[in-house]
Amino acid sequence: MMKSGLACCVFAMAVLVTQAAQSQPNTEKNNPVTLKYLGAAGWEITDGTTCILIDPYLSRINGPPPPGGHPMAGDTRRAYGWGDVASPDVAAIDAHIQRADFVLVTHTHYDHILDVPHIAFKTRASVIGTESTENVMRAYAVPEEQLITVRGGEDYQFGSFSLKVIPSIHSPLDHKRYFSSATAPPGMKAPLTLEQIHPEGGTLAYLIRFHGHQILAFGGMNYIEREIVGLEPDVALIGAGASRKEVYDYSGRLMRGLHYPAMVLPTHWDNFLAPYGASQQASLDALQSFVEEVRAASPKTKIIVPKYFETIPLETVAK
Ligand SMILES: [Zn+2]
Ligand SMILES: [Zn+2]
Repeated sequence: MMKSGLACCVFAMAVLVTQAAQSQPNTEKNNPVTLKYLGAAGWEITDGTTCILIDPYLSRINGPPPPGGHPMAGDTRRAYGWGDVASPDVAAIDAHIQRADFVLVTHTHYDHILDVPHIAFKTRASVIGTESTENVMRAYAVPEEQLITVRGGEDYQFGSFSLKVIPSIHSPLDHKRYFSSATAPPGMKAPLTLEQIHPEGGTLAYLIRFHGHQILAFGGMNYIEREIVGLEPDVALIGAGASRKEVYDYSGRLMRGLHYPAMVLPTHWDNFLAPYGASQQASLDALQSFVEEVRAASPKTKIIVPKYFETIPLETVAK
């Protein structure tokens, strides 16, 4: 009795400390912000106090390839089809995700959403995403108080950062045909098949204002030009996979519209069907053309090709 009372008290204190940290006003401009690439479209952004994840996908299962995608040659792991239930790789998630306060999901495809229910339970983070994303969370019984449904256009204050939700569009996979673009319905019950966690449900991008930085995060290879013109992020996480080539002047329109961001980090460029240890040389070679496009459109932009789990510090912004 005493023991559980104490545990409860310690937990309550931990919650209070977390809430206090989250509700600090945006006055500390000098906290260093760091980014970490998790593979696929996944990122961790933190100032050491508040931890924001974007599309965290660490399981990297041998799942059904998207149009244009290929499984890794010689992969001996179990191959999953659309009708299969795939469990997240809890060991991989737990090895790299210790905490999170917010999980931002750009859309409901399995390489963006499969790990989110486990992460939501583990960290008690708020999950921000479309109706489709939240319906997948509900199927796994993630508590309703952790779910924040957005539609695009919201601009919310969350203590030490603010979040502008940008209406966006999905990568033009399969030669400009939207791929699996339905919305996950309410009322589903876990476990869900890969097909059930793969209705795109609309796509969002996110602008995070954090300690004087503006970090714009895309979850794929497309954008709505009128929605990004006038944003002036200093850091842009830009989808750099091959399907961007279906888009007219993809990097040029983006660089001009965003007014030449100081730093570009390519995202969603790797083969997420391969485990972390596998060679990504083919994807790295293909990425060179994206680097060249950005360089041509915005010569002063610093382009960093991220390595998995390597900490990328942003310069402290003095205010
Ligand atoms: Zn997708
Ligand atoms: Zn994806």
